Amino acid sequence: LKMKASEIRRKFLDFFVEKGHRVEPSASLVPVDDPSLLWINSGVATLKKYFDGRLTPENPRIVNAQKSIRTNDIENVGYTARHHTFFEMMGNFSIGDYFKEEAITWAWEFLTSPKWMGLEPEKLSVTIHPEDEEAYRIWHEKIGIPEERIVKLEENFWDIGEGPSGPNTEIFYDLGEELCDSSDPECYPGGENERFLEVWNLVFSQFNHNPDGTYTPLPKKNIDTGMGLERMALVLQKVRTNYDTDLFQPIIQATCKKAGVQYGVDKETDIALKVIADHIRTVVFAVADGVLPSNEGRGYVLRRLLRRAVRYGRKLGMDRPFLFELTGVVAEIMKDYYPEPADKQDFVERVIRGEEERFLETLSEGLRILEDVIQTAKAEGRSEISGEEAFKLYDTYGFPLDLTEDFAREQGFTVDRQGFDKEMASQRERARTARQEIDSMKVQGGALNDLEVNSQFVGYRETDKETHIA
Ligand code: ATP
Ligand code: MG
Ligand code: MG
Ligand code: MG
Repeated sequence: LKMKASEIRRKFLDFFVEKGHRVEPSASLVPVDDPSLLWINSGVATLKKYFDGRLTPENPRIVNAQKSIRTNDIENVGYTARHHTFFEMMGNFSIGDYFKEEAITWAWEFLTSPKWMGLEPEKLSVTIHPEDEEAYRIWHEKIGIPEERIVKLEENFWDIGEGPSGPNTEIFYDLGEELCDSSDPECYPGGENERFLEVWNLVFSQFNHNPDGTYTPLPKKNIDTGMGLERMALVLQKVRTNYDTDLFQPIIQATCKKAGVQYGVDKETDIALKVIADHIRTVVFAVADGVLPSNEGRGYVLRRLLRRAVRYGRKLGMDRPFLFELTGVVAEIMKDYYPEPADKQDFVERVIRGEEERFLETLSEGLRILEDVIQTAKAEGRSEISGEEAFKLYDTYGFPLDLTEDFAREQGFTVDRQGFDKEMASQRERARTARQEIDSMKVQGGALNDLEVNSQFVGYRETDKETHIA
């Protein structure tokens, strides 16, 4: 019998409770008092207050399963077997209590003991930081992992910006030689491959990364670990991707039914189904935690994810709101540990539906204009949409460039991307000049330069951060 995801979560918590840990419930996806983070992106993110010494926990040993959002992995979603924008991170934590020896020994026990996960030890390999001799000794001498399955990687130093940091060790599950072999230089745990699945990261926090960028030793050493529930479900349910587990299949099946398509037949269809299943979880949980679609910050991320899911829905032939109807499926899968989506189902459905309707309107309006553009181009004997045309669609109708490119491609057209970038740059220049004029009215003399550079820099970073979600 295959182990359900909810059982894996339960066992993880139980195991560490047996080792003297106290269960900390999952916190909201919206960080509290933490301007350095847009979303809670790991288990430790909600426990910083203990790690940096601001608060002392009742029990220095904590275990949790924490809902997390990461948009940096978005390009991988639907393509790799293992990446999501929303996922659960399970972790055990020591606040100045146990350190490397126990953390490694318990991780191994949990993964390999038949009472817990029961994985075959030969399928596991680890990476460590090259200078972490202590970790090497424990893995090799105490646990008995052969040298060739302990890989030293410079990048094994954990740093999430402000907060705790230090060397780490990661545990990988070998999904099989057919996915890559030694003829591929990336075929090693931690390399760019689909064979070695990273399931658990153990961080040995020894330093604090201060707001000013300096590092200071923590008064007490800490353990912070993170294991992806969806990946463990893949391993224990012996399926090919996270999307084939019981955490995603009901969503995918419900979408298939609506769209009248089948999963596992056509590659492009599967990618669309996976992206939708991924994004709807993120959207449902974000809205249930009180985030609303908007044009800035978290609300903007939410909006882009929702719109992206709508666009993948269109690829499946769905041109009416459908995402909101998946809310109940998500709520049902998750409710034994996360009651929020079920408790707020009506509200979440209303928010999603409203946003879907508005976006579909924008889409059809933009499409009408795009069709005119294409007609004109055809009449002029062009097979390319000009940068100006694409920019106008973007600037006036809120039509992102890649969307224009998608539709253009369907009609056998290309888009002049460089021309688009040029238009974008000259619009920035116009905005800058306008700002300068205003500034020069307010600021007389030398302070102007500083002001200008400063505001430009901030603006740039903010757009950068948000527009990578196409
Ligand atoms: P990867 O290298 O696969 O992108 P990571 O090294 O970025 O993962 P960590 O930051 O170490 O991941 O997070 C701890 C654990 O959380 C990972 O070992 C993995 O099991 C899980 N995890 C991380 N990112 C994701 C994601 N985007 N989707 C699903 N699970 C994730
Ligand atoms: Mg990653
Ligand atoms: Mg990694
Ligand atoms: Mg990692």
